[in-house]
Amino acid sequence: MRRRFAAASALGLAALLGGLVNGSASAIDALDKKNPESIECTDGYEFHESLGACTSDNGDGTWSVVFPDGSVHSVAEPAPIDESQFVASGEFATVAAAARYPDINAPERMTACRDTGQYRFVALYMNRQGHANNLTTVRTQIRKALKRANYLVHDETQRSSNNNKKANLDFRCNPENTQPAVRYGGAVPTRSFAQAVTVAKANGFNHPREKYVIFGDYLDPQGSYCGWGDSTADDRRIVNNKNNGGTGSSTYALTFKNCWDWRTPLHEMIHMLGGVQSSAPEAISGHTHVGSDVMYASGNGHPNDEPDQCAHMRLDCGKNTYFDANPSAGSYLATHWNIGWDANRYINIY
Ligand SMILES: [Zn+2]
Repeated sequence: MRRRFAAASALGLAALLGGLVNGSASAIDALDKKNPESIECTDGYEFHESLGACTSDNGDGTWSVVFPDGSVHSVAEPAPIDESQFVASGEFATVAAAARYPDINAPERMTACRDTGQYRFVALYMNRQGHANNLTTVRTQIRKALKRANYLVHDETQRSSNNNKKANLDFRCNPENTQPAVRYGGAVPTRSFAQAVTVAKANGFNHPREKYVIFGDYLDPQGSYCGWGDSTADDRRIVNNKNNGGTGSSTYALTFKNCWDWRTPLHEMIHMLGGVQSSAPEAISGHTHVGSDVMYASGNGHPNDEPDQCAHMRLDCGKNTYFDANPSAGSYLATHWNIGWDANRYINIY
């Protein structure tokens, strides 16, 4: 689904696809028939199959999403999958444009380790009810993705601070603190984001200071998305920014199986951290119109859609929109929410 669709059309199309899929019984897994297509949405909301919830566009790069249990999430508006930057297949991505984006096999760097009760990311593996639990065989792959994401965060911190600062993502780790932990989040009845969050919560993954990075061992039910991430509109440069643990509730991101290389999990983590607020210089609908960038959205419709401004995959290609460890005085990132600010509770910048 491309950004050039107006949001209302995109939602309408999603609803239409949902109707068609539900009508073709032979083509879908029996488990998917449990998709709660009977959910009635109130005015202004439309049912979105991949989210598994009633959804409305907030107009600021986020969608308001009402889960079947009535809880409300703020979720980043989805970016279209950029086939030159994000197509992945198999265990690790083999990208047609790999020579152009060599960072796909980025070096690994061990994350920071945080104890229970501290602000931290927690990686979860989830599978589908009635399907194999492959956690023991994919744990190493997931750890590689997380450590590659961590490498980029560190590298960008060094670059933007003239080598004065280093950084690590704060993670729950294994008991020896030698690897990021990958916990079993549970088995979902359907593949929607709402179900992943609901099951993870039911299994105790609901600490208010934790951000859950879910690796779903299944594909997007609509075949359209690489993942979803909670994100809240709040561009204030304050420690208690809503995206910095300031809402008092846990947040969630889901990456579907075909996009498990490090870029999509990092993309969703950046959403959970509140990256790319709508007020930011190169923002468009919660993403950037400048690439190569982990948050770049292709076909974004912006008059200055610049996919090639950076030669390699970057965190904030222009260092002016969501990440700069040393922004110049008075600049946007020195005066607004900035993921590279050392008050970020989920990245140890030192
Ligand atoms: Zn996104």
